Amino acid sequence: MSSLNDVKSRALGKLVASKIKQEFPVANLGVLHEPVFRGRELDYTRQCIESGFVSSVGEFVNRFEEQLSLRFEGRSVVATNTGTSALHLALIGAGVNEGDEVIIPAATFVATANAVRMCGAIPHFVDIELSSMALDTQLLEEYLSDLLEPRLEGQFNRQSGRRVSAVVVVHLFGHSAPVKEILGVIDPYALPLVEDAAEAVGSIFHARPVGTSSALAALSFNGNKIVTTGGGGAVVAESAEVARLLKHLSTTAKKPHPWEYFHDMPGFNYRMPNVNAALGCAQLEQLDLFVEAKRSLVGRYASALGDVSDVELVTEPSGGRSNYWLQTILLEQSHDLSAVLGALHEEGIGARPLWKPLHELPMYERCPRSPLGVTESLSGRLINLPSGVGVAA
Ligand SMILES: *Cc1c(COP(=O)(O)O)cnc(C)c1O
Repeated sequence: MSSLNDVKSRALGKLVASKIKQEFPVANLGVLHEPVFRGRELDYTRQCIESGFVSSVGEFVNRFEEQLSLRFEGRSVVATNTGTSALHLALIGAGVNEGDEVIIPAATFVATANAVRMCGAIPHFVDIELSSMALDTQLLEEYLSDLLEPRLEGQFNRQSGRRVSAVVVVHLFGHSAPVKEILGVIDPYALPLVEDAAEAVGSIFHARPVGTSSALAALSFNGNKIVTTGGGGAVVAESAEVARLLKHLSTTAKKPHPWEYFHDMPGFNYRMPNVNAALGCAQLEQLDLFVEAKRSLVGRYASALGDVSDVELVTEPSGGRSNYWLQTILLEQSHDLSAVLGALHEEGIGARPLWKPLHELPMYERCPRSPLGVTESLSGRLINLPSGVGVAA
């Protein structure tokens, strides 16, 4: 079943692949984002194993949190075992309760919605804008003013009758969302903002680290993120008191005591193990180098693909300095995305589409939502290209 469109799109995929291979003749282009270990990873993990402290107590976890805190304007940091658990804790910190609704984009990794569900709450999808690929501020303003009804206990969805208790903004592919504008829209409703900064570790926006413009942010150190702990995450909190509570919840809510097991809340086993933190300390030492390397990639993709028509390279928002976690191209509307991806894969390029929009997944298809035209159009046009530090050098 080969339409004219497929032929045109396959040819585009082949052309893009050949341009990329020409630009990066020795790189491993078969994976989207390969981790790089060029620092003290072995040294630190060896120390960890030799000390016997490999689990949830140990020097490296504290050190990792301190190093992160330095990068996040001295805010309190709680290291966790995954980015998803960090998001779950951040939502709890924001006051999300069972039965609430939480406004999130549908154009994000599934973990954003899963963390909402882990609170017993319901994701409520709002569309993104093309320029930042984050929640559309103007749409959000109009949408919330129609949707919300103030009551004593907060803002309620007029249709569902459920409380709307938070908004989550996602800094997609490392590019900052316009957080200030979004805060301008939701502040009058006293809705807290949580930043899903999982992809944006090391990104700067208006001279501040991405993840510090609201009260709570979640980071990820999964194997495919810019710096990795194998698996891991962290909450960055403006309030030291909230951070203390979240750390308590992440360590089964156990009261410190030499021998007694006393837990005063239903907690979680979310603490980052020491051996993962050891890896993380070594990786963080290289974060600035990694950001430089990944930023150099966008120029090289621009020169490789500059004269290819029907392909547009996504660049950082003005006022920002992105970590360029994933390099991104947008195809001209008329192309068949699968045909382009198929051709890229045949040529050994580990390219990927956008995650399937969350309202198209079976467990989230009945969730409340705004019209999602931009999300849907983007998901038919977007391709992430190999972006690891190792591609650059
Ligand atoms: C990676 C990621 C997370 C967290 O994922 P984990 O694999 O649990 O660390 C959350 N949100 C987004 C947008 C992500 O990309």
